[in-house]
Amino acid sequence: HAMREESIKRTKTVCTYCGVGCSFEVWTKDRHILKVEPTHGPANGVSTCIKGKFGWDYVNSDRRVTTPLIREGNTFREASWDEALSYIARRMTEIKAAHGPDALAFIASSKCTNEESWLMQKLARSVIGTNNMDNCSRYCQSPATMGLWRTVGYGGDSGSISDIEQAGLVIGIGTNTAESHPVLATRVKRSHKLRGQRLIVADLREHEMAQRADLFVRPNPGTDFVWLSAVARFILDEGLEDKEFLARWVNDLDEFRASIEEYTLERAEEITGISQDVLRQIAHEIVNADGTCIMWAMGVTQQCGGSETSTAISNLLLVTGNYMRPGAGSYPLRGHNNVQGASDMGAMPNFVGGYQSINDEGVRAKFAAKWGTELPTNKGLDNHEMVHGIHAGTIKAVYLKGEEMGLVDSNINYVDQAFEMLEFFVVQEVFFSRTAEFADVVLPASPSLEKDGTFTNTERRIQRLYRALEPLGQSKPDWEIIQAVANALGAGWNYQHPSEIMDEIASLVPLYAGVTYERLEGFKSLQWPVLPDGSDTPLLFTEGFPFPDGKARLYPAQFIGRFEPLDEEYDLHLNNGRMLEHFHEGNMTYKSPGITHKVPGMFIEVSEELARERGLENGRFVRLVSRHGAIKGRVLVSGRVFGKQVYVPMNTQEAPHMVNRLTGSHTDLSTHTPAYKDTAVRLEVLPDM
Ligand code: SF4
Repeated sequence: HAMREESIKRTKTVCTYCGVGCSFEVWTKDRHILKVEPTHGPANGVSTCIKGKFGWDYVNSDRRVTTPLIREGNTFREASWDEALSYIARRMTEIKAAHGPDALAFIASSKCTNEESWLMQKLARSVIGTNNMDNCSRYCQSPATMGLWRTVGYGGDSGSISDIEQAGLVIGIGTNTAESHPVLATRVKRSHKLRGQRLIVADLREHEMAQRADLFVRPNPGTDFVWLSAVARFILDEGLEDKEFLARWVNDLDEFRASIEEYTLERAEEITGISQDVLRQIAHEIVNADGTCIMWAMGVTQQCGGSETSTAISNLLLVTGNYMRPGAGSYPLRGHNNVQGASDMGAMPNFVGGYQSINDEGVRAKFAAKWGTELPTNKGLDNHEMVHGIHAGTIKAVYLKGEEMGLVDSNINYVDQAFEMLEFFVVQEVFFSRTAEFADVVLPASPSLEKDGTFTNTERRIQRLYRALEPLGQSKPDWEIIQAVANALGAGWNYQHPSEIMDEIASLVPLYAGVTYERLEGFKSLQWPVLPDGSDTPLLFTEGFPFPDGKARLYPAQFIGRFEPLDEEYDLHLNNGRMLEHFHEGNMTYKSPGITHKVPGMFIEVSEELARERGLENGRFVRLVSRHGAIKGRVLVSGRVFGKQVYVPMNTQEAPHMVNRLTGSHTDLSTHTPAYKDTAVRLEVLPDM
């Protein structure tokens, strides 16, 4: 027995399935994962959800890529690392020589570590010389970040998960929290039940949190901006605003007041469908609560006006004094485990690490001194612009890691065409993904359990993960691969361990200034900004806001209507989102037999009303057609969706069912986040199979 105990290894890791950032010990014996044991996670205590608990056997999936692959005609052949690296270096060098550095583009991964995102943008900027650099927060939370920058100056959760727990009132807008951020939702459910915390949910679909809410409102699709603005206006009209807070800490009240002038309760009722009484009730709930937290996610951000609505959320919090105090504030819930970190690391076209602008000469000089190379000055392309750039012939090569772009980007037929047009495409992945099918070279990467590094969760909490398993086959941690690519291009990097990369990050990024691996030992964590002395910031704003005068700004935003309103031909609104058991596109969870066994694939959820109108019953085979493509699936009639709305989960891998065959290329106007939630479709009943 003693011997058996000895061969069991316990390793601290951080969950890769959502932005809550649960940490736990994983028990392994050789390559077997025996169990996951949460003990003292700073974000989760002793909780995990089904994904964190059972979602790990994918590391032994036979769909892992375990050796570099090089395309030969329509197939791939195995190659050595040396051959793959020199091929990549040769092709990148040729393309750069022929078309300039901006013909290349780089995409980092929000599933990879901070250190890996850092090296990816360093490769793009200092080795190739381009700012064409992005990550998948472009697909989800960039609009939230924009709304917060405009108003409060930092694009992160303003407090911690514990603040959400403490709040007197929690408002969830366009977030299916129980399924997308389960452990965080558990905290809210507990506070609601035991402490009398109030809960308001605004969403299209009556999911679990909506059912639990004290007040569930179902605004017309894409109209959250209007009810938020009307509530703010009503509060100001009634003199219920936090006058002291506004006078001391907030600028631009008059401009803001003028910008929401048109959103009377009457007008808001007309546009949103929410009654004036309910709008008044929401206002009074906020004003009377001992602290309000607003959580929001893709239902808000994946719209043409995602940034505007995010701004309206922050404006409302400012008007009611819900910043600079515990149990209050703004909480855009991050999807992937390291969405926050990938952006913090500067894997973005316009910022180097810590949101320092590439236009700032002083910033560029600081980086140039450290890296020994000049940084490019022109603004780079984001993911969305890259796809257009490929179609336009300006982008010739893409190096993409850990991102299933061929499933998750909108208007996937257009994205597929772009991939086919590329002269050179490197995909670095744990699995042979759908995106990898288009690659010229596939590099085998190691998943989180096979590497060391750090992740930053939704509450800006930086946590370490440790290697539990050796890399499978010839796969390597992404940071080692990026370093090898950089060195094949002549960079001469020599990082021996991710901690050395973090030392470099700390020296160049003020938000991470005091971060060291020692300070993050084991279950220790730090929330940015981390000062050089190692003190961190659980509550983001305590002594004002990061603007020159220390004051926040009420930002006059505007209502952006729907890009695809319903018409005769496309008469249904398409909504899409997650299922609890699967993670995003499902490329890890679908390879976990424990999970796929319990939960089937996709469905097309329709309202009882629509089912009656069209004669649909459960299991009926139908086709959804949009202006951009079509998918097929089986009907699920439910009381969770209403009227002329249909819901399709996004977690599917099979081409005929991929929801992004339906979505278009229209985006949030400020950030280019695809407006996934703004798609009109029609439904055709198919002969049964
Ligand atoms: Fe992982 Fe999120 Fe579940 Fe926590 S809540 S175990 S981070 S998926």
